[in-house]
Amino acid sequence: MKKRYLLAPGPTPVPDAALLAMAAPIIHHRTPQFSEVFKETAELLKYVFQTKEDVLILAASGTGAMEGSIVNLYSPGDEVIVVNGGKFGERWGNISEAYGLKVHWLKVEWGCGVDPAEVKKVLSANPNVKGVLVQASETSTTATHPIKELAALTKDKNCLLIVDGITAVGVFDLPMDAWGIDVLISGSQKAFMLPPGLAFAALSQKAWKFSETAKCPKFYFDFKKERKNLKDNTTAYTPAISLITGLREALKMIKEEGLQNVFARHDRLARATRAGTAAIGLRPMAPNAPSNAATGVFVPEGVDGGKLVKYLRDEMGVTLAGGQDHLKGKILRIAHLGYVDTFDIITAVSSIEIALNKLGHKVEHGKGVGAAQRILAEGYK
Ligand SMILES: *Cc1c(COP(=O)(O)O)cnc(C)c1O
Repeated sequence: MKKRYLLAPGPTPVPDAALLAMAAPIIHHRTPQFSEVFKETAELLKYVFQTKEDVLILAASGTGAMEGSIVNLYSPGDEVIVVNGGKFGERWGNISEAYGLKVHWLKVEWGCGVDPAEVKKVLSANPNVKGVLVQASETSTTATHPIKELAALTKDKNCLLIVDGITAVGVFDLPMDAWGIDVLISGSQKAFMLPPGLAFAALSQKAWKFSETAKCPKFYFDFKKERKNLKDNTTAYTPAISLITGLREALKMIKEEGLQNVFARHDRLARATRAGTAAIGLRPMAPNAPSNAATGVFVPEGVDGGKLVKYLRDEMGVTLAGGQDHLKGKILRIAHLGYVDTFDIITAVSSIEIALNKLGHKVEHGKGVGAAQRILAEGYK
């Protein structure tokens, strides 16, 4: 027997209440019964997004909401700034270019957050820029970007701040309305504690104005059409009925815990993971702007990161993530978002200690676990 532990930055573990709700017999989506589920879910989503605006629910992975944001807000030839500090930043640029937008790439060293002064410089030099596209949490490097400061830059300009909050919403504080974020998107398989398949997008009034003139081609991801249907407690096309039924349960759990407590839990788990990995001697990937969604660390010299991830998964049943692109085989990413608590962190740190020893890199058993545990203990009365 091998017990499995899923500690990757998406998909993340799903709580029993959501699994059971999703196992219920399918109801038809054009019924008062489903409308009631949908209405409650849409309200709860506003709470988690910290907005009074509608949160669209799309049947897609998170990238669908990214593409939807571009095609609904821009026209070919429009200029945007893309903060490119990792795989997902790069994706913003690739989608924009696919639709003929002119991209000002702002390259950021992997593992760092963007300097708002750099964004300000590009904005000043290019007065026609109509959007800043960024990640709140760049999952590929486990770094955050300073969203509040970026929002202050776009607020009074004819320019939208479009934030991929896919591993940020429900992880750390990102008050959409209070900060003036124009588009905030997320996906079901991260902090929303669900299987993959749903994408979410919330738009400010300023962003909805942009949608009036946007000329990019679109059909499935038509935000205006979705918003119209949302008012009638439904979606334009067949919704992912089971996922939405599960989402209601997951959102109820978040509401019951309280958003601030959810943030505090993620903060505690993240600090414990950082302390635990540091105690083993693993160098952090994003020391200056670490995300509370996942912790990236460099694999020690002489250890093959690919082998380490494989050993953890196949031998120990623990799924962590490795690195992408030039970081392939070089880093390990430990996720701590969503349905994750104290003993998931113990599992992660302990399994890394055992695996490193097995792969010939000697670390003292319990050293990382002890460091993590001292912080995790804060969570109890
Ligand atoms: C997971 C993720 C995405 C979306 O990926 P999908 O595979 O399309 O769900 C986008 N951005 C970030 C920051 C992510 O973590």
